[in-house]
Formats: sequence, C-alpha cells, structure tokens
Amino acid sequence: MVDTVVRGGTLVAEGLPQTDIAIQGGRIQAIGRDLPGGKEEIDARGLHVFPGIIDVHLHFNEPGRTEWEGGETGSRAFAAGGGTLYFDMPLNSTPCTVNAREFDRKFAALSAVSITDFALWGGLVPGTIPEMAELASRGVIGFKAFLCDSGLPEFPRADDLTLLEGLREAARLGLPIAVHAESEELTQALRRRTIEEGRSSVQDFLASRPVVAEIEAIQRATLLAGEAGAKLHIVHISTGRGVVAAAEARARGVDVSIETCPHYLFFTEEDIERLGAIAKCAPPLREKREQEQLWAELLKGTVDIVASDHSPAPPEMKSGDFNKAWGGIAGVQSTLGVLLERGHHARGLPLERIGSLVAGQPACRFRIANKGRMVPGADADLAIVDVSKSFELHADDLMQRHPLSPYIGARFRGAVERTIRRGETIFRNGKITAQTRGVLIRPS
Ligand SMILES: [Zn+2]
Repeated sequence: MVDTVVRGGTLVAEGLPQTDIAIQGGRIQAIGRDLPGGKEEIDARGLHVFPGIIDVHLHFNEPGRTEWEGGETGSRAFAAGGGTLYFDMPLNSTPCTVNAREFDRKFAALSAVSITDFALWGGLVPGTIPEMAELASRGVIGFKAFLCDSGLPEFPRADDLTLLEGLREAARLGLPIAVHAESEELTQALRRRTIEEGRSSVQDFLASRPVVAEIEAIQRATLLAGEAGAKLHIVHISTGRGVVAAAEARARGVDVSIETCPHYLFFTEEDIERLGAIAKCAPPLREKREQEQLWAELLKGTVDIVASDHSPAPPEMKSGDFNKAWGGIAGVQSTLGVLLERGHHARGLPLERIGSLVAGQPACRFRIANKGRMVPGADADLAIVDVSKSFELHADDLMQRHPLSPYIGARFRGAVERTIRRGETIFRNGKITAQTRGVLIRPS
C-alpha cells in the first residue's frame, strides 16, 4: 500500500481530468484512474492539482535581518500560497551571500527553519568573481547582480566590467546570471535632480525610474551576455516594452529568460497614491497602458516565469516619507491568486500556462531535476486549489512576519486548499501542518 493517494483532482499541467496520484517515499509513484488505496487518502474531487510553486526570486533576509522576515515565517507564508521550493536572493540577508562562508551560514539557518525546500542565489558584486567557482561547487542556482544601486551599501551594483567578466565566469561554470535591470546613470541623475529641487512626491519617485531606464539596462545586459556566451535571467521586468527588448535579444540568439512579478500584473501607479509606501518597489508600478502591454506579452507566451520578489521590511520602514521608505513588495502568499484572478478568470489565461509560469519553466530554466512536473518519479510537490472559490485577503490570513501587503483587502478567485511538499501536507485549510523541514536543492 502506498503512503498517500490524492484522489479525483483535475491535474493542471498534464491536462488529465479527474485522476488519482499515488505518492510513495515523497515521490509520485503513479498517475491514473482508480488507483489502489493508500495509507492516507486525500479527496481532491472538484479541485485542481497544480505543481507546487517554485518561486525563483524572493528575499527572506536570513541570516542577519530576520526582524524583516526570516525563513520560518517566510516559508510558512509561501506554503500557504501553494509554494514548495523558493530561491533565496543573496541580499537582503547580511552579510550577503557572496562567498562560500556566507553560503554555509545561510544554508544552516534555512535548513533549521524552512518548511519548504529552498535553493540559494549567490551574489555578484565588484571583487567577488574569484568567489564564484566555490559558490558554484556549494550549489548556488546562479548569481544575482544589480545594474543600479541596490539600496544596501553591502551589496554594491555591478559596473559593466564586473558584469561582463562575471558573465564569462558564470558561462564557464554553466550557471545563469540574474540582473536587476535599471540604468544607474539615468536613475541616479534623476534622483539627484529630484533631491536638489526639493521634490518628494510619489510622482517624483516614479519619474526618477522611467521605463526607458529599464529598457536601456535590459539591452546592455543582453548585449554583454551575448558577448560572453552566458545564460542571463532578467528579474522583475515591469513593462511590456521591457519584455519585448529581452525577447528581441533572444531572437538574436542570446540565452535570456524573462521574469515578471504579480504586482506589476495587479497594481498600477494609481494604486500607489491609495496604498502609499506598502506599494513602493523598484522598478516601480507602472501606468495602466504599460500594464496592459505586459499582460499582452504574458498571454502571447513571451514571459517565461512569474516570481513574487517578496521583499518585506518592518512596518516603520514602510511608512512616513515615501521617498525614504524601503522599496519592496511583500506578496509571497498571493502569486497564484493574482494569476488565477487577473490571468485565468479575467483574461482567459489557461491553467496549464499558469503551472508552467510558476513551476514548469522555473524547474527547466534552473535545471531542477524531479520538480516542477507532475509525472511518475518526480517529487510529490503539489498545490491543491479551488480555482473558483472567492475570498478577500485579510491581514490575519498572512503568515509572514509583518502582516503588511498591498494585497490586503483585494478579492481573489482561486484559493489554495492544501500544499504538499515531497509527499507531506505542509499547509491545509488555513493552517500550517508541516512536521519536517525543507532541504537545499541544487541544480542538476
Ligand atoms: Zn528582489
């Protein structure tokens, strides 16, 4: 008798109506109709079974800034949103993950508290290229670089030469470089002018980070990646025009993957006036017209991956003077809700495409064997979802450390009923049920 049978759910990725999934030893053993009984029977009739979410971009800030989030609360919130594997960024933990010693510290910290599996990004900052090989041997998923100021002095931006040489080293190691693509020249000069002229409104902030700053940085990064023969991943592209710039490079043969975030698909500039610093991020939320172009590219299939870029901070850093507030959106629990509400229900985005954006493509791009697909032999990482259940998100639904999120008060159709990580139910009906911890996942 197998450990568990998930019975009668509609499998999203494989398009199999009402089928059973048998789980043994944390892996999918069989998929089919009327499978024999298991020790545990999970009734999924009337529900959809998605592959567990693989979030390739978030910041749990452990070690060093656990008062901002931490792996325990962060992973619980992630699991409540259907998540089973996340990739933690090398900042805003501190010291940042730019060498093997810091990798080991983060590995130990997250191993002790994370209820979902996790992978680690290394950092690329000026002077750390000699550290990249050892980080690769530890098992980083890739290396993250900022093309503009990161907001943290301990994680300086990569100048063009650091980026070019970092890309060459990453190519040699067979790993991708992820970039935050906004022009330092444009954003810093505009910001300086804003300060000199004593302007500090929301509109002044938005004007200091224009769309062209994103497009210019994407074009430069793709040019250098092509020159280096490296894999490039562009994080959080905020506009359709940015997606097109990356896709043009891909058409020329550059190996580039395209990520956007739920908040660019859900909120616009107008929402910032209402929400204040809770909705501040970089690149910033954009005009409605830009958002519609981003949706159009996503619906066409140009966007590869949707990731939360969950970047929380304590309440006192998300209030007061907008220009001084921390830039980052805390939304790790809402990725699936946004894609179901605004993608599937509002725009006809097929459920299979959602599974691909949040699990299939992340596993494929970052070479995660045995995850992201629901097939015999794969890890039993599943999110069981009622795609038509309507709910309003309340602050006390949030499992993250600080119940701050621009999504509070928003209505969604699509509720996660249960999350299964390697065969173990870690979240069910609003409660965390995990008994064991997540493990480090390395690229294969
Ligand atoms: Zn980020």
